[in-house]
Amino acid sequence: MSATTFDPVRALAAAKHEFGEHGGVNMSIEASTTFTVLEPGTMPEIFAGRRTPDRDGCFLYGRHFNPTVYTLGRELAALEATESGYCCASGIAAVAAAVLQLCDTGDHIVASRAIYGGSHALFAELFPAKTAIRTTFVPITDLAAVEAAFTPRTKVLFTETLSNPTLEVADLAALAAIAHRHGAALVVDNTFCPVMITPALHGADVVVHSLTKFVNGASDLIAGAVLGSAAFVGQLMDLHTGTLMLLGPTMDARSAFEVSMRLPHLPLRIAEHSRRAMILCARMAELGAAVTYPGLPAHPQHALMKRQLNPGQGFGGLCTIDLGSRERANRFMDLLQNQHRFGFMAVSLGYAETLMSASASSTSSELTDEALAAAGIGPGLVRMSIGITGDLEDRWAALHAALRAVGAVA
Ligand code: PLP
Repeated sequence: MSATTFDPVRALAAAKHEFGEHGGVNMSIEASTTFTVLEPGTMPEIFAGRRTPDRDGCFLYGRHFNPTVYTLGRELAALEATESGYCCASGIAAVAAAVLQLCDTGDHIVASRAIYGGSHALFAELFPAKTAIRTTFVPITDLAAVEAAFTPRTKVLFTETLSNPTLEVADLAALAAIAHRHGAALVVDNTFCPVMITPALHGADVVVHSLTKFVNGASDLIAGAVLGSAAFVGQLMDLHTGTLMLLGPTMDARSAFEVSMRLPHLPLRIAEHSRRAMILCARMAELGAAVTYPGLPAHPQHALMKRQLNPGQGFGGLCTIDLGSRERANRFMDLLQNQHRFGFMAVSLGYAETLMSASASSTSSELTDEALAAAGIGPGLVRMSIGITGDLEDRWAALHAALRAVGAVA
């Protein structure tokens, strides 16, 4: 399969064909935490890993594989063109479990310096303190700097497809080549780009998601997923050394069902987020606002993004506007939420409504002042996740008025 022939919409539709008990058109929710065996001899076979959900339809215990969660994992693996996948309780659990599984004590990670603040804190603070796994943060678009950061102990190169919040585009094929040259795995957080970009087709070994965002789309539950080879998913669930199995960030079957029900309209939602973001950003750019959006030709990695995109989904729903100072950013968001009802001042993204936050004082506040400056996250940078509700011209009128009110455009 190549990046040019893969169609995530088809792949998802093909995977999403699970009958429920009694022939229901939706899969059933398997609410049991434990599963019977018909013969006592089967139990040790499951514990020894010789009988599995895939091989013999054998399930053991809900913190191990659950059939509903497993089905969602298969659907997401189809979407991401990986052999296998499993879901967990949050996006940060997916990041932590995947990376910890690949690293031993004293190993080394090379990571993009512009990533979600929680992932940054995990690598910069928690891992060194608790596991002696150290991370070197690099500008991910500087391939020479990425390669120079590798050491003989580097096991993981970690990046987001589109960086949070600066929207830098990672050159996945080039990064995969660097990682593989050094015997390391490329782990890609594809939270910002589901359906749009398929990192495994560009060489990523492991793909992680916060399903809390676009994939679920309703901002009503926290969830995550790890997608990769069947062997890697087997390692995550290993009864002795599996990070998902033994650290226990288990997804509930009811959450798996909820997320699975949102998958059929994920491509439609993404295309509409993209369409609206493109129109609003093009208009803001035309007026001279300091807007960053990968769909704009002026974006430094616009051509790279275009090359990596699957057809028909656009450039995504996220953009940033730099208002220059925290005060102006706050005034701008205050106007948009409380006067114009344009959206909500809230962290997170991928919701039907527009969500906006000043990254430096919210989702990137885990970074030190130096790390914020190095990543290009100024105090006035507002990240917006453009929603899909309401009349687009009304939304533009509100945005334009707020930009004018804070002096961001004439
Ligand atoms: N990855 C990215 C890119 C994110 O933006 C976030 C949260 O904002 C996470 C991971 C963590 O996801 P969760 O909140 O589901 O743990």
